[in-house]
Amino acid sequence: MIIYKDTCIGCGTCQPFCPAGAIVFDDHRSTVDQDKCFECGTCLRVGICPVDAIQEPANVYEYPRALRKYFSDPTSTHAVTGIQGRGTEESKTNDVTLRSGPGEVGIAIEIGRPTLGMSLEDIQKITRALARNGVHEIEPNNPINSMILDPQTGDLKPELMNERVLSAIIEMKITRERLVDILRVIKEVIPELDSVFTLDVVTLLEPGLTIPAEVLAGIESQGFSWRPNAKINMGLGRITE
Ligand code: SF4
Ligand code: SF4
Repeated sequence: MIIYKDTCIGCGTCQPFCPAGAIVFDDHRSTVDQDKCFECGTCLRVGICPVDAIQEPANVYEYPRALRKYFSDPTSTHAVTGIQGRGTEESKTNDVTLRSGPGEVGIAIEIGRPTLGMSLEDIQKITRALARNGVHEIEPNNPINSMILDPQTGDLKPELMNERVLSAIIEMKITRERLVDILRVIKEVIPELDSVFTLDVVTLLEPGLTIPAEVLAGIESQGFSWRPNAKINMGLGRITE
């Protein structure tokens, strides 16, 4: 985002709306720190500037900066998946897509929310740690998959390292047997991250609508607490594959 300095009257009204703290005063006028701004569009969308000094620049859709907008502006649509928000359906449609099927566990690492934001370098720290431990495939219907340069090392494309976004989700699936091992890997990488994350563990329920005991035990064994969040297929959807 940019603020036209000649138009801005320096009222400061826009500054508290920026989740990145990217709008600051410079010589009694507001300006946007282009490194901090993750192009979420909030400052423009709230429509609070009395003189329309806040404008979206033409380069907001230029790669690699465009990733800031795709991941951070909920009104934009990811170019590679055609999905708004963070570009993935996540586990929300697992009842019909079966991304994580019987005997499998889906893992989703949601980084940066609520409004702290994150560097894409933080994603690489996680994908590298996963790759060192044999997880080389990120969910194909997640835009992060297209950001991977080398699945064997977990390296991201180098031009992405200076980009920041509001939030992103790293998704993968593993066998249930590997759950404890992979949770340990994720736990070990936490000190390297310059942000926060929520960890999702996705599993099909067992007959009687119970959560598999081995999944809960695996989560607790690594010191994570859990809160159930269910999606129940009421028969309106059909398996798509
Ligand atoms: S687009 Fe978002 S991050 Fe950038 S200045 Fe506006 S509110 Fe802040
Ligand atoms: S709301 Fe508009 S006029 Fe006021 S500081 Fe922000 S950009 Fe400048």
